[in-house]
Formats: sequence, structure tokens, C-alpha cells
Amino acid sequence: MVPKNDPGCGWLNLLPPRSSYPALNQTFDCPWVIIGAGYTGLAAARTLAQLRPNDQIVLIEAEAAGEGASARNSGYLVDSTLNDGHMSENGLSHYKQKYHLNALGVKTVADFVERYQVDCDWNASGKYHATALEKNETKLRTFSRTLDECEIANSLIEAPALRTRLGTNFYRMAVHTEGGVMLQPAKLARAMIEALPANVTLFEHSPVLNWTQSGSRHELTTAQGRLVANKLLVCTNGFIPSLGLKRDRVFPLTLTASLTRRLTDSEFQSLGSPQEWGLLSAQAMGATVRLTGDRRIMIRNTAETLWSINMTPAQLARRVQGHSAGLRKRFPDLPANLIEHSWSGITCISANSANLFEQLSPTLSVAGCYNGGGIGLATLFGEQLAYQASGAQTNEMDQIQQRPTPTWLPPKPFLHLGVKARLIKDRYLGQLER
Ligand SMILES: Cc1cc2nc3c(=O)[nH]c(=O)nc-3n(C[C@H](O)[C@H](O)[C@H](O)COP(=O)(O)OP(=O)(O)OC[C@H]3O[C@@H](n4cnc5c(N)ncnc54)[C@H](O)[C@@H]3O)c2cc1C
Repeated sequence: MVPKNDPGCGWLNLLPPRSSYPALNQTFDCPWVIIGAGYTGLAAARTLAQLRPNDQIVLIEAEAAGEGASARNSGYLVDSTLNDGHMSENGLSHYKQKYHLNALGVKTVADFVERYQVDCDWNASGKYHATALEKNETKLRTFSRTLDECEIANSLIEAPALRTRLGTNFYRMAVHTEGGVMLQPAKLARAMIEALPANVTLFEHSPVLNWTQSGSRHELTTAQGRLVANKLLVCTNGFIPSLGLKRDRVFPLTLTASLTRRLTDSEFQSLGSPQEWGLLSAQAMGATVRLTGDRRIMIRNTAETLWSINMTPAQLARRVQGHSAGLRKRFPDLPANLIEHSWSGITCISANSANLFEQLSPTLSVAGCYNGGGIGLATLFGEQLAYQASGAQTNEMDQIQQRPTPTWLPPKPFLHLGVKARLIKDRYLGQLER
């Protein structure tokens, strides 16, 4: 299964077109090949090229570079994640460990943005974890206490103050956490393409269809070309299992989102002219909603396992009805036909929310599976994968390696049924927050 991006991604469609890189149509023999040009592969290629200025590095991408999940995500660069309580000190120390790794991811992106003077609509005003349901209030209060114990700045906000901040009466309580950033994900991905050093050769629209290893060398074939490499880094995230790796550890999840047109002055004023905000639901499968700096509303409220991974236009159209319904619930006074862009994207999940960062052999490494997150971790893991592949050990790598690794998953038919059952349950419980 290879990626097939739909053309509807709002973040991408708001950018000017860029010229494309060539497809692979010959045989290339090179020391390094990286498969997948999302945040992970782009960060790995940039770092490796800087570490090995005399080596030629090939970065090969199935679709347009940076236009998979890395352009299609909701743009939350997060340090803290919702945790509804810890049963022991051990639970708290795990939470702290995860928080510190995420914070390192935020710093890695911030350093990149600073160094390359990237304009990606960076807004460090934090995020809300919110609920419309009374039953989730205890969860949010517990979360706020956990954050206090970890000395992570946060505040509990209740209606009507929340209404003033968000411009909707829908929510009754939220925890606002500082430290997170909202950004335009496609702008960030594009900046990472532009930052590729001259010793990186990028091939686009060249899905790797077959991969064999003979001795220590890797041979990859595409529709029109062939790559032979000494070292291979696999950075295909949701498509890692499609390349025959980690099938019993990680699996793809297909998400959908929509972005409205810009609100008019009077529409915006009817919400009370709020500042830009980003909100995650306290309820699993509840909607992620953002009001952007240019007065658009983004909503993401589906997550599912599909046999085909890639979503058809008809499937996407049905999900968009759910996005519209989610907007109407929150903003009943705005017009019903606000949505301008809708898209699907594929992310990668493990059963225990662990990430992948592994040297599988002296010539083969893989990184991915950031579960709900990934902007910060993918950039961090990509950079660190490059260090690891070139034989270095860093403090950041120590921190990554202290975290749990993905636990075993059952084979596909059972996995799909199990995940589907869980998602159906979460969807049912989360329907009031979708
Ligand atoms: C709708 C949505 C919302 C999200 N929201 C957030 C968010 O708010 N915050 C956050 O931190 N994370 C979010 N994520 C997750 C985040 O986008 C990912 O974790 C991150 O983009 C992973 O980066 P990556 O480079 O590892 O993977 P990707 O961006 O998926 O890149 C992998 C690349 O590999 C390529 N590829 C795959 N197979 C092949 C092949 N056979 N040959 C060649 N190339 C191949 C793909 O085309 C793709 O470009 C979201 C994801 C989605 C889909």
C-alpha cells in the first residue's frame, strides 16, 4: 500500500504552488537513502547532510514532499498531553518523562524555526483541553492537578469566561496549558524542504514499491528507477508496516479535517472577536477545533482504520458532513456552508502510545509512530536518527531510548476488528463532543 494524498488540504492550498522535484527514473548507487519526506525524513536528511557533507544522500518520496501527514495535521506543537490521573508515583514519573521528551520536540522545532527564520504562523499561546460534558469535569480538574504537580503552568477556566475566550457557548470547562505552540503545518514542512543542503537529492512522486537486502546493501525499486544504498533510514510513519517493518507493533490511522473560509468582519465580531485559539477535546474522539490567526475555523473529528488506508472522495465527503455538523453545534449563528477545504491524512499508532526509534541492523534504522502528536517528535526523532545512523550517541537519544517501545499487536484481521471496536466505542461515547 502506497500513499495517495487527496488534493483538499487547506493548509497546502493556501500556499503558493512550488516547483516539483524530479521522479526517480534511473539507477542510483549511493551511501545513504531515506524513504519518506515528511518531518521525520526531512529532518533526518538535513541533519545527515550536515554531519556528512561529503556524502550524497537520497531522499525518496511517494507523493509530493512534505504533503502527507506533515502538511495535513492540526498544527498543535505540544509539550503536555491530557492525562486524567496517575495511580502511583511511577505513573507521575512516566508522565514527566513523556512531557520532557515532548518539550524537547518543541525546542527542536523552535530551534529550526529560529535558525532558518521560518514563517509558519508560530503562535505560542498554548492550548485548551475542553469539554462540553459535566462527566468530564473531574477528568479536567485531575489533569490540572497533575500539571500543577509537574510544575507545568495551567489554568482552569469555566463558562462564561470560556465563552469570551472562544466565541462559543458549547464548552463548559477547559484547562488552558502554556508551553504549546500553534502553527501552519504545511508552511513548516515546506521550510524543511527549502532547508535541505545541496548534498541531498530529493526525488518526488516515486513510491518505493519493492525493497530487498542483499548482504549489507539495500535495493529499492520504483516504477521507473532503482536505488542501491549502503544505509537505509525508513521514515514513512503510517506506511512503515506497508514496507514490511514493525507490522506487529504499529498501524495506520486515517483522520479527516476541514478548514472554513475566512470569517467576515461581522461574523468574527458575532463571536466577540476572540484571539487565535486551539482546543483539544477532553473526550476521546471528541473534536479538535482551531480558530486561526486569519479567522478561519479548522475542525478534525474522525479517526478510523480503513482496509485501504487511503480514503476515497466519497468516503471523505461523508466525513465532511460530520465536520459541518460539528461546526453548527459550536457556532449556530454562523452560516452553514463555511467549509472551503477538506482532507484526509494518515498517522501512525501503537497500542501503548509508544514511539518507534530503532536501529534494526547496522545498515537499517526506522523512526515514527508519534500517535496523536508528531510535529515536535518527528523533527526530533528525524534529527536523532541521523546522529544514530552516523554512529553518534547524544543526550537526546538517551532520553528517547528511556521511553517504552511499542507493544505487540495481533495480526491484521484481529487488529482491525479490535481497533474498530475500540474506535466505535470511543465514537459513541464522544458523539456529544464531535
Ligand atoms: C489530520 C491529522 C492531524 C494531526 N494533528 C497533529 C497535531 O495537531 N499535532 C501533532 O504533533 N501531530 C499531529 N498529527 C500527526 C503528525 O502529522 C505526524 O505525526 C507527523 O506528520 C509524522 O511525520 P512523519 O514525517 O513521520 O510522517 P509523514 O508526514 O506521514 O511522512 C511520511 C512520508 O513517507 C511517504 N511514504 C510512505 N510510503 C512511502 C513509500 N513506499 N515510498 C516513498 N515514500 C513513502 C509519505 O508519502 C509521506 O510523505 C496529525 C496527523 C493527521 C493526519
